[in-house]
Parts: sequence; structure tokens; C-alpha cells
Amino acid sequence: MAKIEEKVVQARELVENAPNIVVLTGAGISSESGVPTFRGQEGLWQNYRPEELATPEAFWKDPKLVWEWYDWRRNAVKDAKPNPGHYALAELESDLQKLTLVTQNIDGLHQMAGSSNVVEMHGNLWQIRCTKCGDIEQNFDVPIAELPPRCKKCGEIGRPNVVWFGEMPLGMERIAAAAREADLFIAIGTSAVVYPAAGVPEPGVIKHVEGDRFPVGELDGSTTERIQKLHDLFENSGLKSRILDDIRSEIWLKAWGNLSFNPISALTHGTLVDICQFPETRELAAEMMAEAQTIAEKLGVTFRHTIEKRISGAESVGAHKTSMLQDVEAGRSLETEALVGAILEIGDITHTPAPSIKAVYALVKLLNKIIMSEHVGVKLTEAA
Ligand SMILES: [Zn+2]
Repeated sequence: MAKIEEKVVQARELVENAPNIVVLTGAGISSESGVPTFRGQEGLWQNYRPEELATPEAFWKDPKLVWEWYDWRRNAVKDAKPNPGHYALAELESDLQKLTLVTQNIDGLHQMAGSSNVVEMHGNLWQIRCTKCGDIEQNFDVPIAELPPRCKKCGEIGRPNVVWFGEMPLGMERIAAAAREADLFIAIGTSAVVYPAAGVPEPGVIKHVEGDRFPVGELDGSTTERIQKLHDLFENSGLKSRILDDIRSEIWLKAWGNLSFNPISALTHGTLVDICQFPETRELAAEMMAEAQTIAEKLGVTFRHTIEKRISGAESVGAHKTSMLQDVEAGRSLETEALVGAILEIGDITHTPAPSIKAVYALVKLLNKIIMSEHVGVKLTEAA
């Protein structure tokens, strides 16, 4: 029997023996319906990146501009119809005791196919949410008559009911509860790449490479009600969380790794262990971290680990591809500014030279430009 057929039989057995399933779907399932990803688009909006428009800051700066973009996106997906994948999931829901469909997609195609127990963690393109009273209106007008649209109840400006960069996904408590009681977790058309250092050893099992993965804290070190709630949410989901009184130090520990391992791996295609065990790149990572430490210390940040310990930690994670390398392979926009540019900017503000970070930044920025302008990904494959 061919390998793929064996896998199908295995998958079928898993599904048949699980009365309660959680399915997570992402962009992959919508692309079959012709829904574009809105990255690297031609035409009117080609000079904007989603990161520049899909934020609360962009919206409040220019609500009309952001709405024009969403109006255009609504127009681009208005004729999309559910595909066999959507219909199969709707059918599965009617066969099972319970199926919770969690989707990252905002196109509403699952409901159109007949799924009813749907959690839209990134919202819905066809809903307008009032920025004042929170009322949600279903709206399928293309184009929308007046931009920005006004709330029918209170008259205030409405916003797209979608999750923007910097906002919390929706329905997290419902998702956590469903995942806790599920017998099987299926991911379709999405990779678990956004999750920190996680692996999937077998279907339904996510292994955390390190234990204390979700430290939270207020910038002033206090324990507020909201931080307690966030902490409890992680803990109740079976994840580890700690409330820290010095979250800045934690952020810089994370930044240390991000600003060095991510761009180095993007440029070299090396995994964490590759980078750490290759003397020259290990030294380069250490130099970049030392520069960042000088910058951070000017801001009063203390580091509770040494650079050597931070590198050993990364080394023990093993053959993990950093998120930036995964983006290079998939042809997605790199997190150049957030991970590297931001550190250089703080370096400028504090008048701290950072030559190693600056050099790596220049290289990875050009790589990003080429990936974006050529619409290509770069993946190493076995030579023929
Ligand atoms: Zn309102």
C-alpha cells in the first residue's frame, strides 16, 4: 500500500474513534476557494503591507483608508464559494457527538458550507463592530455605501470585526475549553508555526519544548486583575504561566534570541542547533546579543541570564527552524523590523553602536525585499 493511502486509513481510524474533535483551519483551506492571502498583491494596494493597515493605530489615524482596504478585500472574496474541504467538515460535524471548528479565516466560508459550531478566532470580514457600544452588524454590501460605516444603534464609527495586529484573538476561552475536552485535534491548511518552540509528535499532541513558556506581567510590575486573568487562562488551558514583576527583562531575553537566531537562520537556513554548534555563527550571535545588552542596560534593564546560557538554551531546543526561516521558506514577509530593526532604532535613540546587528539587518532586509518583490520563497531541497 502506498504511503499516502496508509496515512489516510490512519487518519480515518483516528477520526472514527474520536467522538469529540476540535478542528483548526487556516488560509490553506480558503485558498482552494480562490480567497487570496492579501500579501504581495498587485494594483491599488500594492504599496501597503497588511501590517500597516490591519492595526488599531492605522484605523484611528485614517479610518476611511483602512475601510477602503477592507471594502476592496470584501469585493475580492465576495464570489468565493465553499469547496469540498469546507463541506466535508460541515458533514463531519453532523456525524459527530461534538465538533468545534476553530478557524483563523475571516471569510465565513465554513458557515456558508453548513458548519454551525464555529469559533472565528480572527473575526469575520462580513461583520461591522461598533467602536463605542460594541454592537455587531452583519453586512454583505459590496461596496459599503458610506465609509466609515456608522453604528445603527448609537451612530458611532464601526470597524471591521476582525482581529488586528497587536490584538488578542477572539473566543480563546471557548477554544481552550473545547481543546481540553477533545479526543482529537486536527489542523488543516495552517501550520503551528506561530506557537513558541512547539512540536507535534503525534496527531493531537503538542509538545512544549520548554516548560515556562508564557510569562506575563505589567510593565510597572504590579499584579492587576487583567494580568491575573490572562495567567489563569493559560494555566486553565494546561499551559504554564508565571506572573513576573520584571517583564522587561523577560522581553529582552526573548529579544536576544529573536534579533540574532532569526535573521542568521533566515540567511543561512541553519536551525538553532546548527547556528549554535557552528563556531563563527555562535560567535556572531553572541556579539549581536552583547550589543543588544549594552543598549538595554542603558534603559535600566537587567539580564538574569548570561549570553552563554541563552545560547545553550537555544542549542538545547535542537533542530528548530526559527519563525523567520519558516517565513523565508514559505515566501512570507519577514519580521525584519519587529525583531531586528526595532533594536537598532533603540540603539540609535540611546546612541549605542551595534555594528554586528546593523550588518545582519542590512542583509536580511534585502532578502525580505527580494522575497516580496519576486513573490518567491527559498527552500533548500535535495540535489537531483
Ligand atoms: Zn454603537
